[in-house]
Amino acid sequence: MASNEHPMKVKLLDLVPQYESIRDEIGAAIDEVLSTQQFILGKKVEALEEEIARYCGVKHAVGVASGTDAILLTLMALGVKEGDEVVTTPYTFFSTVSCITRLGARPVLADIDPRTYNVDPDRVSKLVTRKTRAILVVHLFGQIAEMDAISEAAGRSGIPVVEDACQSIGARYKGKRAGSLGAAGCLSFFPSKNLGGFGDGGMIVTDNPSLADAARILRVHGGREKYYHDVVGINSRLDALQAAVLLVKLKRLDGWHEGRRKNAAYYDRELSKAAGVTIPYVEPHNESVYNQYVIRVKERDALRERLRERGVGCDVYYPVPLHLQKCFAFLGGKPGDFPESERAARETLALPVYPELGAAEKEYVVTSVRDFLERRA
Ligand SMILES: *Cc1c(COP(=O)(O)O)cnc(C)c1O
Repeated sequence: MASNEHPMKVKLLDLVPQYESIRDEIGAAIDEVLSTQQFILGKKVEALEEEIARYCGVKHAVGVASGTDAILLTLMALGVKEGDEVVTTPYTFFSTVSCITRLGARPVLADIDPRTYNVDPDRVSKLVTRKTRAILVVHLFGQIAEMDAISEAAGRSGIPVVEDACQSIGARYKGKRAGSLGAAGCLSFFPSKNLGGFGDGGMIVTDNPSLADAARILRVHGGREKYYHDVVGINSRLDALQAAVLLVKLKRLDGWHEGRRKNAAYYDRELSKAAGVTIPYVEPHNESVYNQYVIRVKERDALRERLRERGVGCDVYYPVPLHLQKCFAFLGGKPGDFPESERAARETLALPVYPELGAAEKEYVVTSVRDFLERRA
């Protein structure tokens, strides 16, 4: 039945065609590392740090074990500690907020702008107090947040703005790349990000040499020289194997971003003809890299169900805003605190947008969404 009626299957993300297109080069790069048997940090990691710094338009880059650790180590390097406050958003991936609480600091949440899903700068500026140690802004789904207004709110008190750019490597805001707009940017190389490795990985990018230096020490247990520890750090290093893979992929990254943008433009065009769906809004001064293509519909759960029946991969980012997570109950959050984040959690759905999507697949996604909306109209 359903499978005969709907023979097409479209995955939300399929990494296989990308791998096939670079298989030989990846194989050679991995073999090069294997023949040296040097797996921790080293030349490949240094080369990647240099190239990512150049790509993002900053002076320094520090390879770490994950995007989560990039955030944690940046906050540690900035001296965030117990009793401090860090202003951020409740509508993001878990680790944005968990890195704050892991240091004993308090996340102070500001609701989002419902058009972009990024934090609302007016709300941020109202929450800055004498206890605010940093503002941790998230560039969600591939679009940079309103950095000028946020930097202005921070600048009055000299508070560092940290960019969680885990979903937005390469995105531009008024011509400048993600990670070059604040005190530091945090990148993730998790496989589903626009620049994904073959496992976990992350990087901190910054123009500030002392911040970079602090992060470099903190990622190797807090010592400059082996077995001599100045501060208590952690073990969070980027593997040489990941760096080798990422160096091969980085050369193609802008082309892949372009592929995502073309797919997004196609969806924008086709879906704006349908009633009952809100397409992503990108500020005119922004260039999104569409880590996710996220639409908004009132009957989201029913649409998700229908798409799944038809073999169209889709998912919800994120079903529960962080102030309503069980583990953060101690912060006292309750339903109604952040209405826009809660509404976004109920109404948004991500569609397949990866660069290698075929024309027939995209058309099938659009037909499936429109078919659902017309039946409901
Ligand atoms: C993926 C992601 C992270 C965490 O990155 P990991 O590499 O998975 O640890 C943090 N913040 C945001 C917004 C992310 O999308």
